[in-house]
Amino acid sequence: MASPLKKVIGYRLLVISVIIFLTYHLSLITYHQAYAQSSKYVRVAILQDVSSLRLKIKGSFELVDSISNKVLSRGKNLNTTVTVYSDGILLGNTKSKTNKLFIKPYYPESVIINGRTFRGDIQLIKNNMKLSVINHIDLEDYVKGISVGETSHYWPIDSLKAEVIVFRTFALYKMQENSQKDFDLTSDVYSQVYSGRAAERYRINKAVDETRGLVITYQGKIFPAFYHATCAGHTDDASLLWNIDMPPLKGVSCNFCQDSPHFKWHNVLSLGEVKDRLVKGGLRIENIKDIIILGRDKSERITDLKIVTDKKDMKISAKDFRNILGPNIIKSTNFQVKVIDRDAVFEGFGWGHGVGLCQWGAYFMAKQGYTYQQILEYYYPGAQISLLVVQESIKHFPIPLRKSLKVIAEGDFLANR
Ligand SMILES: [Zn+2]
Repeated sequence: MASPLKKVIGYRLLVISVIIFLTYHLSLITYHQAYAQSSKYVRVAILQDVSSLRLKIKGSFELVDSISNKVLSRGKNLNTTVTVYSDGILLGNTKSKTNKLFIKPYYPESVIINGRTFRGDIQLIKNNMKLSVINHIDLEDYVKGISVGETSHYWPIDSLKAEVIVFRTFALYKMQENSQKDFDLTSDVYSQVYSGRAAERYRINKAVDETRGLVITYQGKIFPAFYHATCAGHTDDASLLWNIDMPPLKGVSCNFCQDSPHFKWHNVLSLGEVKDRLVKGGLRIENIKDIIILGRDKSERITDLKIVTDKKDMKISAKDFRNILGPNIIKSTNFQVKVIDRDAVFEGFGWGHGVGLCQWGAYFMAKQGYTYQQILEYYYPGAQISLLVVQESIKHFPIPLRKSLKVIAEGDFLANR
């Protein structure tokens, strides 16, 4: 048995080791510094407006009315179909008289929805006799969960670190923007692709863990850290696409992504198909005779197009044209278009809207030895890497989350500690 003196020495050695460990790791963050860690929950809509779903829970769980916050029931192991009834939500034949129901498992990774495993809590929301499913998940786990959909886990570690910092920042921005709504993000390409537990990969998890809590800020505030696959020469100015005008999103030249597989693209659509898609997108348009480019911005992306028809010509922004025809058909707004024999032939450069981080540029930068800090500084000039400060001790969703957001929204970062 150890003597009291040995115990004291042992304890002191442990404290000193912890301080050395922390000092070493914090010294790696050479930027705008701050500290404090606590859980931040992001709310991801994994299903919207469905009439039923398959739910499996492994182990013990609680069902909580998320309007009154009352525990409605407790149970163990469940495998059932979830539907709605006039006064609430049905788990098999068990009625829960509420339109918002939390499923809180006791163990992580024990909820399976339609065959997919999710970490964190699940909220079922009934609206117009339909169900939406929201996954309330720790932000760090969420960033791990979007890996497969947003990047490739075999990429160099510094490009992965740059990307996960961007994903984390973008998610936090959405949390602020949607704080009054039922969810922060959807799990489709319009926010960030979230595939749950099955999507996690070792090297992505490593990049997330080694950058835990790091975000990019501008003047101490989280900003919409946009990203895209390949810019093909120059990233775009966000103010030309959205109502966002700030130095980190003004656009930079990029010679790093020239060898990206998405540097060039080519697509052919018949003029009839172009018309059908525009009509489906809500435009009233006659038979198309020609498509004419009206102008380009400094990054060579098209600003507006003229659709020449049998009757009236129509002007459309390139952004709307791309979104309506399909962002994976018209991969970018940097293209040439020629009409040949009733076909529209598109020859283009890059993939994505072009704002913020160029992912393939980041890949090649990391291959050349640039660090994740240098990559982020390059694509977001004037932005800083910050360690997120949340002053509240956050135990569980939903109320403490909103407090933490207030802190973030106020840009409450402790400078130069
Ligand atoms: Zn690029």
